[in-house]
Amino acid sequence: MSVVSSVCCYCGTGCGVLIETDAGMIAGVRGDPAHPANRGKLCTKGATLALSAAASGRVLYPALRTEKGAPRRRVNWGVALDHVAEKFRAVIQEHGPDAVAFYISGQLTTEAYYVFNKLAKGLIGTNNVDTNSRLCMSSAVAGYKVTLGADSPPGCYDDIDHAGTIFVSGSNTAYAHPILFRRIEAARKANPDLKLIVVDPRRTDTAAEADLHLAILPGTDVALYHAMLNVMLWEELIDRDAIAAHTEGWEALRDQVRDYTPEKMAPICGVAAADIVQAARWFAAGPTLSLYCQGLNQSSCGVDKNAALINLHLATGQIGKPGAAPLSLTGQPNAMGGREVGGLANLLSAHRDLADPEHRAEVARLWGVDTVPATPGKTAVEMFEAVRNGEIKAIWIACTNPAQSLPNQRLVHDALQAAEYVVVQEAFADTETVAFADVLLPAASWGEQDGTMTNSERCISRVHAAVPPPGEAHADWAIVTAFARRLVPGEGARLFPYDCAEAVFNEHRETTRGRDLDITGLSYALLDRAPQQWPFPEGASAGQPRLYADGAYPTASGRAHFHAVPYRPVAEAIDARYPLHLNTGRLRDQWHAMSRTGRVARLFAHADTPLLSMAPRDMELRRLNPGDLVRVKSRRGDVVVAVEASDSLRPGQCFLPMHWGARFMGGLGINALTLPTFDAMSKQPELKHAAVQVTKADLPWRMAALAVGDGAKLLDAVQPLLRACDYAAAGLAGRERDVLTLRLAHTQALPESLLTALDTALGLDDPLAVMHYQDRPRGISKRVRVESNKVVAARLTGETAAFEWLRDVVVDGTDAASLRNWMLAPVARPPAGGAGRGRIVCNCLNVAESDIVAAITAGADLTALQATLKCGTECGSCVPELKRLLAGNRAAA
Ligand code: SF4
Repeated sequence: MSVVSSVCCYCGTGCGVLIETDAGMIAGVRGDPAHPANRGKLCTKGATLALSAAASGRVLYPALRTEKGAPRRRVNWGVALDHVAEKFRAVIQEHGPDAVAFYISGQLTTEAYYVFNKLAKGLIGTNNVDTNSRLCMSSAVAGYKVTLGADSPPGCYDDIDHAGTIFVSGSNTAYAHPILFRRIEAARKANPDLKLIVVDPRRTDTAAEADLHLAILPGTDVALYHAMLNVMLWEELIDRDAIAAHTEGWEALRDQVRDYTPEKMAPICGVAAADIVQAARWFAAGPTLSLYCQGLNQSSCGVDKNAALINLHLATGQIGKPGAAPLSLTGQPNAMGGREVGGLANLLSAHRDLADPEHRAEVARLWGVDTVPATPGKTAVEMFEAVRNGEIKAIWIACTNPAQSLPNQRLVHDALQAAEYVVVQEAFADTETVAFADVLLPAASWGEQDGTMTNSERCISRVHAAVPPPGEAHADWAIVTAFARRLVPGEGARLFPYDCAEAVFNEHRETTRGRDLDITGLSYALLDRAPQQWPFPEGASAGQPRLYADGAYPTASGRAHFHAVPYRPVAEAIDARYPLHLNTGRLRDQWHAMSRTGRVARLFAHADTPLLSMAPRDMELRRLNPGDLVRVKSRRGDVVVAVEASDSLRPGQCFLPMHWGARFMGGLGINALTLPTFDAMSKQPELKHAAVQVTKADLPWRMAALAVGDGAKLLDAVQPLLRACDYAAAGLAGRERDVLTLRLAHTQALPESLLTALDTALGLDDPLAVMHYQDRPRGISKRVRVESNKVVAARLTGETAAFEWLRDVVVDGTDAASLRNWMLAPVARPPAGGAGRGRIVCNCLNVAESDIVAAITAGADLTALQATLKCGTECGSCVPELKRLLAGNRAAA
């Protein structure tokens, strides 16, 4: 057994992990006590990384097809890269370099990001390189630049411990950055006077913890921040000295916010004027740390939202001091590293701007090329529009899943279908995007490649290869390097001389010399000893935890800029046809497109299907009951999901988790609904909001199935059924072994051939091993397979009442002897007991909501719950939910 340090590959908290390996396999993962981000803690996602590493479904060999629609055939690396090089050369020759594009990922290492960027901009001569970070952080980047002058988050995580007020805006930190939320909980425990303000249309678990929850109406953030500034002006809570000494543009902003009184903004924002006043006072009292994420960024005016929040920090002097800073939370593990190397269509290495001729000349000199092209490249949404209209002929997609994650999925699927040539560099064989690949290149995944990543607080950590990649997979930087050498023989080798990730890092490091993110004092050797924050110039002995303490900003004048803009509403207004605001967001135990978390069965235990959350009154109006299937329709597409009542939402609003795509549900996934309208400056689309209608889906034919086996293979097997039904939800369950769960509903019975194929795939086709019940006139057919007295597979068609308890019987491996008589019966719970446990709240210790509620009803408080059921005593991710259950069930009692 050996241990290798690395970083969690999910959110931008950037938790350090220790990977335990045994016989060349990842055997376990635990939090790294020495890492400053998490001090040994991990959330449910990080704690199950070893399970995701062990899962099947990897891309093991290069494969290609020469005809659209034909199956790909396995080839060796030489053939695959020659094929791609030949095609790219031909396209470039015929249509110019802007006819090719690269769509990459905030999950790549900084080194891989760097070589992709240099390949596109330095070797090929196109700026068509953009990334899924465009969907995540580009408004935060532009917000920093228009106010502070550089994409340099000024604060650090330790500010949580020094803050007097923590202002969380547009972030369900308890779900999306759980370990940071643990730090907030600890800071509040240590300092009971610490105020927590949460701005969120929903009463999330984060909002439920707040001293003040401002449940604003969707998209009204700028109106709120301006109203807070109006209060600060009236009550002389601003720092006039700091404004005079270190800023410019104050007068314009002051004049702008004059009309934004709390009384006028209260009905626009949907919050009480008194709460706006209270928020302004607590914010100004400080020290105030703002933590914010997609609620601000994923908006058609995301830059305005970011800048209007930073205005508050500048106006009150809440920046550059312990506990005082605007600190955007990064959605992806290395979105920051990608920004450092300029891996976006409008950026260049080391925070240089593509629009600046001097910056282009500097980068050309550093790279040893004549020029870097001046024409901005296509950003994420524009790139796929250009693929669809034929402007871009060949696209290379690496380590990301645009056929799930981009808005307006109909357009994205059409684009990939119509594309002349699609290269997909991926670790996982079953993502929605892989289906479109003409060439599939096997990439090393987390725990299999070397490099660095930078988290939300500018902290660079080393990621290490703990085990070799499977099959013929290679590190991402190595694939790009090999391709560059084939694409332009000679020149490719000169520009891409790297023989290891460290060589790439050293070149990247040199591009930062003299820049705001100067890391010339760093090396792999130093980073191997401990993660370091930038800037860290040559000769420095430590990084810089806080920026702008001296009031000097990296702008032409050295002063920060106030950003005076009016409030603008959401891009898509609700109307009589689409009367509901749809908010999309994250769940606690899934991450982004589920490419990795969707392989870990226990991560489905908290939420195993995508549910539409609605206010009870909206459900009553539509005569909906919890569990009913509904069609959610926007102007771009629709999905069918089950509905749940939620008192976290105001009437008129609904919520869907963003994770489910076509691999796990029917249709094109949640992003069939979202709109591609983007912020004019950051080009980040408004994934957070769409106007929708919700109607009951009348789907009388029902089917549900279960099977023990290899999760990835079973999910592969049921894909045709997902495509065939109006409603479909597939997922996994179980802890010690994978159990497929499948729920289907349709207007009419599926063709017998599909059911026969399903029975074969699930092992339900052996008449000697399967209990069978058939009622043809009523369209009911059921099959249950029992082996060694354990249920291992089941299909219930036409009537599915027993599904929930049968699932628990399969998951728990319950002795089936006493249940045999009931397995084929229409009973929602067997008389012998053993009703379904339902949702698991504490994933670490497998504690179900039903057990927790029973204990609360019997009088347990949080301490008693933790003492008896042990829930919330491991990673702590469920503690906010335990508190919510306590509050809700006590209120109900
Ligand atoms: Fe990973 Fe984020 Fe969880 Fe830390 S908080 S373990 S980085 S998912």
